[in-house]
Amino acid sequence: MEEKEEYFIKQAISWWKNERRDFPWRKTNDPYRILITEILLRKTTANQVNSIYHEFFREFPSIHHLAVSSEEKLEKILYPLGMEKKRSKELSKLSIYLVENHRGQVPANMEKLLELHGVGRYTAGGVLCQAYKKDTAMVDTNVVRVMIRYFGFESSRKRPRDDSKLWDFVEKLIPKGKCRDFNLGVIDFATAICVSKKPKCEICPLNKYCDYFKNL
Ligand code: SF4
Repeated sequence: MEEKEEYFIKQAISWWKNERRDFPWRKTNDPYRILITEILLRKTTANQVNSIYHEFFREFPSIHHLAVSSEEKLEKILYPLGMEKKRSKELSKLSIYLVENHRGQVPANMEKLLELHGVGRYTAGGVLCQAYKKDTAMVDTNVVRVMIRYFGFESSRKRPRDDSKLWDFVEKLIPKGKCRDFNLGVIDFATAICVSKKPKCEICPLNKYCDYFKNL
């Protein structure tokens, strides 16, 4: 592995250790909580999800509770996130499917996870990494941005986050047994420093090897 890659990995892990954002779903290994939270985090902010997290899991402590809930009750709890009708329908469909086909368990392999309604590679990767400790990548737009800037990664895909080469590239960087620290470290770093507009390159711990910074 090149020095540039090793340096990146070290900084990502260090960011997780020292600077990570503290959310309750990051302190659990429960596959149910992790799956549902990853779905809730779409098209909303982590702080908004945080505001309903405890109430949600108090009302629905298991997938079985979620599967028998009325959509009205779900909508009421999901209201602060917006799109509550759509979210409610999706969660009902997903939980009923899991109860009927997986005895209420969240699958522990990529293939089965991708069969679930509304679950894509990022969410599946999030579950495998955080709940089942499998060294699987989590590539969202934040991660794509850092890979393009720091490593100069070039994708031929219109949406680089759908590029399997990028997923493979990120997966190879994950240090054995450290997928949560690495994946979430990169995401939090990108959210704080390598932001979409005006990245904070001057204070960035990665600027030493960053392609983007070299070409400024
Ligand atoms: Fe992002 Fe700038 Fe840091 Fe490069 S130096 S990783 S572009 S913040």
